Amino acid sequence: MTTSAAAILDRFRRAHALLEGHFRLTSGLHSPGYLQCALVLQHPREAEALGAEIADRVRGLGVQTVLSPALGGIVIGQEVGRALGVRAIFAERQDGRLTLRRGFALEPGEKVLVVEDVVTTGGSTRETIDLARESGASVVGAAAIIDRSGRSAELGTGGQQKIDVPFHVLAEVSLPTYDPAACPLCLAGLPVVKPGSRAV
Ligand SMILES: [Zn+2]
Repeated sequence: MTTSAAAILDRFRRAHALLEGHFRLTSGLHSPGYLQCALVLQHPREAEALGAEIADRVRGLGVQTVLSPALGGIVIGQEVGRALGVRAIFAERQDGRLTLRRGFALEPGEKVLVVEDVVTTGGSTRETIDLARESGASVVGAAAIIDRSGRSAELGTGGQQKIDVPFHVLAEVSLPTYDPAACPLCLAGLPVVKPGSRAV
């Protein structure tokens, strides 16, 4: 039996990793929500449980290797690999491009699962899929703890390119971002806070 999306989001709220209100993000944009997966994943038992949840959903895919984009995907990728009993490797940026370093390699035909912590636009998931394919590996699926793209990454809507493999997420949360000048929360007169400040 899998844990419901609501239960997953409760875990995030308990760790103060999912805040709802009116926030000024690092980018300067405003949003009704703030999400920081690292605040959940800092607890190894939470990370292990989330990895096991993802593993349960992809067990039929015959995954041989988990591949994650650094840094965000490393911890959860490791835990999915642990639960599946397969190795977990990561790709990191070199000159702006995701690359396999440290002697990591994929064999032609190797069955790869791409794992991320949170999908915002799906861009890095797609880039990681492309990297695996360039190595000749066979990408059998992709997974993330949370999809905050409003499913646009999966469906290929909103100008996004579709993720063209089976895509599993434990929970979806819709967190739009607004230019401060056009922020409906500002217009409603709600005070804006920076995540991490005591005001929340
Ligand atoms: Zn605002």
